[in-house]
Amino acid sequence: MHEDRPPSQEPSIWDVPERFRAPDDWDPHTRASEAHERTDTAVRRPAAQTSGAPSAGRRRLLVIAAAAVLLLAAVAATAVALTREDGTATGGGSGPAAADDSPSPEPASSRDPFASPTSSPRASASGAAAEPGEAAVPILMYHLIAAAPADAAYPDLYVRPATFARQMRYLHEAGYQAVSLGRVFDAWAGAATLPDKPVVISFDDGYPSHYLTAAPIMRLYGWKGLLNADWKVLDESPRLLAQLRLLAEAGWEMGSHALTHPDLTTLSGEQLEEEVGGSRTVLSEQLGVPIDFFCYPAGRYDDEVVAAVKEAGYRGATTTDPGLALKSEPFRLKRVRVSERMSLEGFAAAVRSGTL
Ligand SMILES: [Zn+2]
Repeated sequence: MHEDRPPSQEPSIWDVPERFRAPDDWDPHTRASEAHERTDTAVRRPAAQTSGAPSAGRRRLLVIAAAAVLLLAAVAATAVALTREDGTATGGGSGPAAADDSPSPEPASSRDPFASPTSSPRASASGAAAEPGEAAVPILMYHLIAAAPADAAYPDLYVRPATFARQMRYLHEAGYQAVSLGRVFDAWAGAATLPDKPVVISFDDGYPSHYLTAAPIMRLYGWKGLLNADWKVLDESPRLLAQLRLLAEAGWEMGSHALTHPDLTTLSGEQLEEEVGGSRTVLSEQLGVPIDFFCYPAGRYDDEVVAAVKEAGYRGATTTDPGLALKSEPFRLKRVRVSERMSLEGFAAAVRSGTL
């Protein structure tokens, strides 16, 4: 599927085929109309699909998106200028990646228009590892990384790009390091170590903004996320499927959000098995990576659903229940819901304690 890439070239999320770089792709609301059916309060949408937004509205959105990018660039450039003034900037901003279990990305500053925005103390640069075992780990939960349209049915699903960028920068400066959920499980099993302040950054449902907005911002720190997608939404959108393949190639972790994003507690045994086990098979085949974790659609689960997830061979599963993830409940992992309304202080407190 990537015949156009020279074999020697490292796969990268920046190897974006031309057709995915069309300005239309910058429309963060491509799937916004679906958002209200893909939340924790509602489940499957009807089959009907929307047509494109009016072109005037789209143009306005593009202008807003472009303005956001310029703002981010300006902030990053200012930060770099400041750090250079005191002579402490090293350009090695991807320090956090050093302890990750994935290949080190190249220095962020070499190709990024943004460069590394901070010169914060690298709290864990010594590689000091936390005790393996019982550590509670924050798993952040995001949906769309975009400004909510005025008529959004569930505006809490949206976090603006600039807000997201500030949150990632905060995590970095506070010494957090994003890790995969697989590594957390390895550490809980005593087979790996975690940094002093690990955090898992998860995204639900699969939206273009995960690839277009979240990934480039996280890459400033050498970080990768956990993306939970249902198969149906990828089957319906070749573009989204291609985006997720690129993220998977770049080292993002892929999780299953079932086949069709149903309320699993309403399904019979056979349907349940198909949604849970069938999605693991097809997602793994289509994305080219193992699918080790499940994410309960709309946060709905019960004992029967948990049993089906275990039966299908997953290592663990994430919920929408608030809190920190614990080794003692691998199939009921709590998460920290992030919303636009949080202050940065509120965000910091939530990451620390798991609750608002
Ligand atoms: Zn969902």
